[in-house]
Amino acid sequence: MPQTVLLTGATGYIAKHIALQLLNAGYDVRGTVRSISRAAEVADAVRPHLNGTTDLDTRLTCVALDLSRDDGWDEAMAGVDILMHTASPFPLVQPKDADDVIRPAVDGALRAVKAAHNAGVKRIVMTSSTAAISGCALSTGQTAYDENNWTDTTDDRVNPYGKSKTLAERAVWDYAKEYPELKVTMINPGFVVGAPLDKTFGTSVEVIARILRAKDPMVPQFGFTCVDVRDVAETHVTVIDKPETHGQRIMIVDRFMWFVDMAKAIKAAYPNRKVVTRVAPNFFVRLLGIFDPAVRSIVPDLGKRQAMDNARAAATLGRPMRPVPEAVVDTATYLIDEDLV
Ligand code: NAP
Repeated sequence: MPQTVLLTGATGYIAKHIALQLLNAGYDVRGTVRSISRAAEVADAVRPHLNGTTDLDTRLTCVALDLSRDDGWDEAMAGVDILMHTASPFPLVQPKDADDVIRPAVDGALRAVKAAHNAGVKRIVMTSSTAAISGCALSTGQTAYDENNWTDTTDDRVNPYGKSKTLAERAVWDYAKEYPELKVTMINPGFVVGAPLDKTFGTSVEVIARILRAKDPMVPQFGFTCVDVRDVAETHVTVIDKPETHGQRIMIVDRFMWFVDMAKAIKAAYPNRKVVTRVAPNFFVRLLGIFDPAVRSIVPDLGKRQAMDNARAAATLGRPMRPVPEAVVDTATYLIDEDLV
């Protein structure tokens, strides 16, 4: 009998890719959505990419659950073999009150894990982030962040999202320490790029859309350590049957890319399209940040290039990561073909 995965946040950009790969790998998926009216959206997103599944109506089902409410979690876990917890707020603009993202992230992660534990579900895979890793100084002699680093949530420069991911991850590890029968693997992706499966996508795709809209006169000297969404999804699925990953964090990244390099990759693929490739001086971006909250959130990291060690992720996948410049162009192609920019 196929194993059933409870996939939280099934309407998410990454979760739809995970749902697709789970179904193609033979798992049944019970997705959690905030509103049951969006259940069809998840099925519609994965359907064109399935390798042969005809009984999607029985293999992919959805239940309505909210990270901030107790209702329904215990019932949703009945008959589940694996919890895959991806749901967490990922806002483009940081909220004024950090608790707006921290509380649903932390309380929601514990709600999901405790409900799984109560139902006897022992295998847990959770989506954390490099935001829970790189918000701290490297140790002396260390040249790249790795899974031993932890974001310092007492540092005022760490934004609410970074705090929410770190505190949620820590809460789950603390809980799992009390109950060693729980087998937890944490996936810590960098900035995720790659074509979404449908037009409802999250913050990271929105960043590529902003480059394509070319409304900003210059691009900031800012970048992310990026990863292809398909590699992120594959890692979530691959670790299910890898006991050696129990108790591990797996930081999954390909390489760092400045925004200007993303813009240049898009320009090379679409030479006739207006794409801004002039880099803004940092003082100008700081000034803009006074007026634009989305710009303000990147100001602390202007000009910072982060190195991250992906050895564990490569060993887990058994291959190098897909090159992210191609994933950036794939994202752009999707947005252009769907007339979204
Ligand atoms: P996304 O498309 O915004 O997905 C977030 C998911 O979480 C959505 O399904 C959303 O539901 C759900 N969610 C948010 N608040 C919720 C709440 N209070 N109750 C129930 N569900 C809630 O973002 P994503 O990029 O796919 O991110 C998925 C996960 O990956 C998150 O944990 C994020 O922190 C992590 N991550 C993302 C990146 C990246 O670059 N994209 C990098 C590292 C880690 P609705 O659709 O109803 O809003």
